[in-house]
Formats: sequence, C-alpha cells, structure tokens
Amino acid sequence: MKKINLCLAHMSEDGQELKFVKEAFDTNWVVPLGPNVNAFEKDLEAFMGMDKHVVALSAGTAAVHLALCALGVHEGDEVIVQSFTFCASANPVAYLGATPVFVDSEPMTWNIDPELLETAIKDRMAKTGKKPKAIIPVSLYGMPYQVDKIMEIANRYEIPVVEDAAEGFGSCWKGQKLGTFGKYGVLSFNGNKMITTSGGGALVCEDEASKNNIMWYATQARESYPYYQHEAIGYNYRLSNVCAGIGRGQMTVVDDHIAHHKHVQALYEELLKDVPGVKLHKQPSNEELGVRSEELLCDSNYWLCTITLDPDLKVKGQENAYKKIITGAVGGAAGVTHVADSAITECQPNPNVEALRVFMDEHQVEARPLWKPMHKQPIFKAAPAYVNGVSEGLFKVGVCLPAGPCVSDDDVKYIVECIKGAVEF
Ligand SMILES: *Cc1c(COP(=O)(O)O)cnc(C)c1O
Repeated sequence: MKKINLCLAHMSEDGQELKFVKEAFDTNWVVPLGPNVNAFEKDLEAFMGMDKHVVALSAGTAAVHLALCALGVHEGDEVIVQSFTFCASANPVAYLGATPVFVDSEPMTWNIDPELLETAIKDRMAKTGKKPKAIIPVSLYGMPYQVDKIMEIANRYEIPVVEDAAEGFGSCWKGQKLGTFGKYGVLSFNGNKMITTSGGGALVCEDEASKNNIMWYATQARESYPYYQHEAIGYNYRLSNVCAGIGRGQMTVVDDHIAHHKHVQALYEELLKDVPGVKLHKQPSNEELGVRSEELLCDSNYWLCTITLDPDLKVKGQENAYKKIITGAVGGAAGVTHVADSAITECQPNPNVEALRVFMDEHQVEARPLWKPMHKQPIFKAAPAYVNGVSEGLFKVGVCLPAGPCVSDDDVKYIVECIKGAVEF
C-alpha cells in the first residue's frame, strides 16, 4: 500500500504545468524572470482580487524576509509574531537582527489572540519606548485569524501587518482573500502547500510602487548605472521562469484543490463525529464569532485537517511513546536533521498523540503533531512572549491528518478506521 501523505503536490489532469514548462524551454527563458513569471503574477493578482500587485519569489520564507526589509526592520527592532506557527514566520525577523515578540493564540481559530496582541503592543511600548515594527498574524492550517479585530488593533496603533497566508492560500474572511488585508501578504508554493511551483512563494503588495521596491530587493538591490552599484543589501529571491510555468498550470486547478480540501474536511467531520475523545478542529461560525451576518465570516481552505485527542484517551502503545530516539524529522522537506541526543524535550505532545502518530505510520498514514509554538523553541528562548497557555495546550493534544487532492474518499475512510483501531475504548 502506498503511504497517504499529509499534503502532496498534485498536478492538473490535463498536464497544463508541463505545457508551460515546455514553453519556457522552447523559448529559452530558463532564468528567474520571463513570460511565465509575469503571467503567473497576473494569475495570482486576479485570484487575490482587491487590485493587489504580486511579486513571485523563490520561497514563502523569502516573502516574509522581503516584507520586513521593505518595512525597514533592522537590528534592535521588534516584530510581533504569532507564536503558534511554522518557524518560517519568525526566522526572517532573526535574519534581520531584530527580535520576534511572540503572542499566543485564541482557542477558536488557533491564531493570534486579539486581547493578548494589544497587551503585547502596550507592554513593548512601555518597556522599549518604541512600537513594534510589524505584526505577523498567521492562518494556521488554512484557518483565517480574526481579521477584523487584529486589523482594528494594528490600525489603531499604526503598525503595519504582514499576513502570513502561506497555509491560507484561498481562505477568505468575509469573502475577501487572506493576504489582501495587511500591508503585505505572504504566499507559499512549496511542494506541500495548496498549490506548488515545486518550491516558491509570493508577496502580495498594495500598489505598483511597493511591488517595484520588493522586486528591487529580490534582485540584489541594483542602482541605475552601467555597472553594478549597490546602496542597500539585496537578495536573490526571484522565482525561476521554469517553476513559474508549474505555477501557471496549478492556477488552472487551484479552485478544485480548495474544494477538495473542504470536501475532505466535511468527510472527516461526518466520520469522526461519534468517535469519543477525538475532536475535529472546525472553523468558527458567525455566531461563535459573535457576529450577525448573512455572509460567512471565517472560510478556511482546510489546508490540513486537524484533530485533538482527549488526554484521557488510551491509544495502543502509548506506554512506549518516546522510548526511542527517532532518526530524521517530521515533514517531507527536511533533508538533513541533527541527530537528537534525547528522545524527549521539556515540551512535547502527550503520549497518546505520539502513539497515534506511530500507529498511523505503521499503517502507512502520515500524521504529525501540530507546530510546536515558537515561544517553546530553544532557539527563541530569550524572545519576549505573551502567553495564555492556548498554543502549548493545543500542541500537547493535536494531530494533523492528510488532506488535499491526493487523498480520496476511501483514504479518509481508511484513515478514520485506523484512528478507531488505534484507540482502546
Ligand atoms: C510554508 C510556510 C511558510 C514558508 O514557506 P516556504 O515556501 O516553505 O518558504 C511560512 N509560513 C508558514 C506558516 C508556512 O506554513
């Protein structure tokens, strides 16, 4: 049996990707610029709406980095980052010699907590005498963060927002795409995201001038002389015209991909509803968000489907959880990892979560813990953090399940049967 992965790249049935890639070869545009790059950016602009301008880049991480560069983040500055996220939301802050200030999540969307955000802003201003340079909210597993509340606070304190919509490509808030609300929006086209360019990303900009500024940074910040003259530190972050060809092909199926992720979520919802001790994470309704509106507020793309396990739930083999050091790391993209010298850390998922991961792995299903919050990562030990226990609590009980176009209805049924088989009732 083939392993069922969390989220795998899925090409269009009619080979659109290959057609555009072939065009790149046929016209000898095998460089990080060209017709596919321009057309892919146009496709993305049409998809995002709101008259945005999009720059295609070599990675989502590069997009975070350049947004912060353009906002003038320097050594000694602080940037507020949602703590419950993948490290790529926070690492670029460190690349620039600035300090991430981590803010914990609220339980409905698992994303940045509005009240705690305001507490953090006030406290940083009191302690450092200056405002954080930016706020980075994330749409974890595709789930929109509470956009209205976060944007209201950011606007009131006049702090620019860089939306990390890497996982939330195609998710909406009040019908508007995530990544179009802030000063900048980050997209990722890594191999495991909603669509892929094999590896790549993009930055959503509010106007032509900001787009040009980002392009300038992305192409080594060159001045207009007949020779190479540099007055700022630049980067080599543009997307290859070959990869952009894959992206153009993927844009022909992006709506199908999103629909399929939502379909898989609905199927999990139906099949898991009577399994005691296992709770599927769902987008909050308007009512739960305390808003009366005909229009759906929180519309997740369900990039990954996630469950939480009751701490009292008994999973087969949990007495052996964390007994041996694993080699390699979770996540397909990790090529090289350090060999750990201990099988445990001071903050890790509950034994039943680890036992479920192992059980699923033995049954050819990739399942993995939620992101470990940044404020619990050794590398960010010294960074200020405003916490309420939500993300740490979720990290201990949460599991990501396969989603996406490669996951069939039969796969979902099989995955749910495996979960039931793992549990000792
Ligand atoms: C994937 C991801 C990124 C970065 O994207 P890459 O294209 O892999 O560099 C940033 N933030 C989050 C939350 C992500 O999941």
